[in-house]
Amino acid sequence: MKHKNQVFDSVLDLIGKTPLIKLNKIASEFKGDFYAKVESFNPGHSSKDRIALYIIEEAERQGILTPGDTIIETTSGNTGFSLAMVSVIKGYDCVLAVTSKSSADKIEMLKNMGAKVYVCPAHVSADDSRSYYQVAKRLHEEIKGSVYINQYFNQLNIDAHYKSTGPEIWKQTEGKITHLVACSGTGGTISGTAKYLKEQNPDIKVIGVDAFGSVIKKYHETREFDEKEIYPYRIEGLGKNLIPTATDFDLIDEFVKVTDEESAHTAREIVKTEGMFVGYTSGAAMQAIKQIGEEGRFKKDDLVVVIFPDHGSRYMSKVYSDKWMEEQGFFDSVNKATAEGIQY
Ligand code: PMP
Repeated sequence: MKHKNQVFDSVLDLIGKTPLIKLNKIASEFKGDFYAKVESFNPGHSSKDRIALYIIEEAERQGILTPGDTIIETTSGNTGFSLAMVSVIKGYDCVLAVTSKSSADKIEMLKNMGAKVYVCPAHVSADDSRSYYQVAKRLHEEIKGSVYINQYFNQLNIDAHYKSTGPEIWKQTEGKITHLVACSGTGGTISGTAKYLKEQNPDIKVIGVDAFGSVIKKYHETREFDEKEIYPYRIEGLGKNLIPTATDFDLIDEFVKVTDEESAHTAREIVKTEGMFVGYTSGAAMQAIKQIGEEGRFKKDDLVVVIFPDHGSRYMSKVYSDKWMEEQGFFDSVNKATAEGIQY
């Protein structure tokens, strides 16, 4: 009974095929048209559903995974949630090593979706035995019949977006897309999508969004790993303290860095102007568009597609908490009325 009258065999049938929605207000001061690929329409509410399903089904095709086996991953939350969701349907155990930077809501969500969660310190180097990478590696060695998804170093992460996100955007824009703007964490989304789009039209500009405190932009420009670039920041899922092989740097034309504060305000602005309740990195991606727009770099016939990776409900104790915003000092430079709400 596949897809007839919107009836589906399981939530897995709803992964991908997300809508492209016009941004009518937030970028109206700039030339060109702006559309968001709103990935919260996936059943697990993020773009990571795509890679979870693709990588697991690829392992099944290769005979590596059979029901009852264990799936292990390191994740800021979204990939974990998607892997846990796919595991529920397909009958796998899901074990996740996450950082202490992940919000409490995300960790509870993972547990509720049936995953076993290990919370590891966020600000230690990748080769420290306490880091979530090392913990996941150790679990993989210890648990028999386990598969380590390893999204930062897995080519299948790129392939998943090459096979789904890229073709969807090309079709939805009828080949008229001129710019792709996407956050880079593992780099899988931007690299896979860019690969497909540039194969159709090599002139499409691909702009990656990076955080202050991450090495990615500098590495793109110099091909050198500069430790001085690394310091703590607040946005989850964007930027990195290592160079992921799931990022194809040659496919990305430039990186734009955005601040925690501006990204947070822009996420809130997307909600208020477009009615889309999106996550923190959607604010970051939109913030990058603003910075490029303010430099006058968009033209009349441009069709800019920005990827909004996940849903705002995951950030209720952060970006969408006035208390959190105030604690970060994010309201210091704006009208106090915004912080306190309208006073009667
Ligand atoms: N936004 C969020 C909220 C994420 O969790 C991630 C993934 N870490 C990204 C953006 C970046 O996507 P990718 O890993 O494909 O680069």
